[in-house]
Amino acid sequence: MCLTDTGVPDHFTTVDAWGSVTMRRLDDGWCAALDRDTLLCRIYDRRPLLCREFEMGGPECLAEWEAAWPNS
Ligand code: SF4
Repeated sequence: MCLTDTGVPDHFTTVDAWGSVTMRRLDDGWCAALDRDTLLCRIYDRRPLLCREFEMGGPECLAEWEAAWPNS
């Protein structure tokens, strides 16, 4: 399944070094679709499949949180 099959708007995507379409990151490193004020996804109903499978509060989520904010 292509990342954009769920309807991700083109302006939130980019093409990586391997030619794959990925979510674009802004200068702060976070996804371009993330609302910085609310920390909610601005395209929740159209988010990529990977985002749908990523369990909020699950082990991978907590590992990413720890990497971003150590000792928080
Ligand atoms: S769920 Fe998060 S990572 Fe996925 S598109 Fe939305 S803001 Fe980006």
